[in-house]
Amino acid sequence: MLEGKKFFIQTFGCQMNLNDSEHVASLLLQEGAHQADTPEKCEIILINTCAVREKSVEKLFSYLGRLKEHKANRGSIIVCLGCVAQLYREKLLSKFPYLDLVVGPAQYQELPLLLSDSFRQRAAITRWTKGWVELPIMAVVRESQVSAYITIMEGCNNFCTFCVVPFTRGREKYRPLSAIQEEARQLAESGFLEIQLLGQNVNSYRDPESGAGLAELLKKISEINQIQWIRFLTSHPRNFSFEMALAMASSPKVCHQLHLPVQSGSNQVLARMNRNYSREDYLEKISWLKSLMPDISLSTDIIVGFPGETDDDFQQTLELVDQVQYTNIFSFRYSPRPLTRAASFKDDVPAEVKIERLIELQKRQKEIQLKVNGEMLGQKQKVLALGQSKKGNLYTGRNEAYQVVNFSSRRELTPGFVEVKIVGGGAYSLKGEAVC
Ligand code: SF4
Repeated sequence: MLEGKKFFIQTFGCQMNLNDSEHVASLLLQEGAHQADTPEKCEIILINTCAVREKSVEKLFSYLGRLKEHKANRGSIIVCLGCVAQLYREKLLSKFPYLDLVVGPAQYQELPLLLSDSFRQRAAITRWTKGWVELPIMAVVRESQVSAYITIMEGCNNFCTFCVVPFTRGREKYRPLSAIQEEARQLAESGFLEIQLLGQNVNSYRDPESGAGLAELLKKISEINQIQWIRFLTSHPRNFSFEMALAMASSPKVCHQLHLPVQSGSNQVLARMNRNYSREDYLEKISWLKSLMPDISLSTDIIVGFPGETDDDFQQTLELVDQVQYTNIFSFRYSPRPLTRAASFKDDVPAEVKIERLIELQKRQKEIQLKVNGEMLGQKQKVLALGQSKKGNLYTGRNEAYQVVNFSSRRELTPGFVEVKIVGGGAYSLKGEAVC
C-alpha cells in the first residue's frame, strides 16, 4: 500500500514512545515503505509526541512550526502520533493547518490505510480501545541489536493529580503473557541479550488469560536461555510489593536496578498528589530492596514546586534523596497539565522558587552521583556494549546499574557483553577500559 514511499519518524518522550515508534516503523516497512534518517526527502513525516510536561508540548509545537515550510516545499504528509495527539485531537488540526493526520496511541494499526493514496483526508483518529490491541507486525525493527523493549501493558488507573497519562493512554490494558513470552523468545533467537519490559505501571500487570502477575512474567522470561539481563519500568511504589523485591533478588537475570518514582519526600505533598503511599511506606520498600540486594541501583522522579509545597516539604525531599542515595534522578518543575485535578489547584509556588529548588535538588544529587561513581574506580563491571560512542574513538554501553559507560578497547568490538575496568568518569557517566 505504501510501496516505495519514504518516511521519517521523530520521537519525543519516554522508552514507551521509542518502542511505539519501532512498531510504527515496522508496520510501514511491512507495507513496502522505506525509513529515512532525516525528514528532507520524505513523503511522510511522523512525529511521536509526549504530553507529560508543558515543556515537552512546547518543544513539539516549535518542531511542528518548523515543518510548515517543509510542507509548502515538498507537500509531505505530516502526522502527529502519541500522547499530544490523544490529548489535543482536532485542536491540533486547527492550530497547524498543514498537519494532515492526528492519530492516538490506540489506533496505530490504522496507519497503513490512513497513509494510503486512496484515503487522503485530514482527520483526527483518537478512539479508545477496551482491551489490548496486538499490532499485525511480522517482526519489529529495533534500534539496538542486543537490547530490546517489550511493552507489556499500557495506560494507568492511578490518577495522580498531576499526571495526564490516564487521559492520553486510557485505563490499564495488559498484553497476554503468551504473546510477551513469544516475542522474547524470538528476540533471543535473533541474538538479543537484554529485555526491558515497559508499561506506565508495570507492577499492576495481570495476564488477561491466567491472571499471572509481573513476578511470574519475570520468571518466564528468565527461563529463556539466551536472555541474560531483564529490566522493567515504570514501577509505582504503591504497587511494588515485597513479593516483587523477592522475585528480583532471587532471579540471577533480573538486574539489580529499579526506577521507583517517589515524586516528593513530604507526606502532605504526596497526599495532594494522590500517590497513595507515605514517605515511610516508600522508605520501608527501599530498605527491603537494599537488604535483599545490597548492590541495588535506584533511580527516581521528583517534582519540585507542586501546589502547596512549602520550604519544609522541599527539605523533606532533600533529606529523602540523601537517605536513599539514588544513582540517578529525573527532576522537574511542576507545570499544570490539562484535564488533571492538580490543574484546578492554586499554582502557588512562584516560578523563581521552583527554579531555586530544582537547582538545589540537582546540585545535591550531583554530589551524590560523584560520590557513588567515584567509589566504582578500579571495579571490573559487566557492560552491555551498544555501539560506538559519539565522543571520540570510544564504545558506549550500560552496566547492570543502567549507567552509561564509555570505554576504550584495544580490539574491535561488536554489540554484546564485555568486561570493563572503570578508570574515571563524572556525575553522569563512567569511563572505562575493556578488559581483553
Ligand atoms: S502512576 Fe504514573 S502514569 Fe499513573 S497517573 Fe501516576 S504518575 Fe501518571
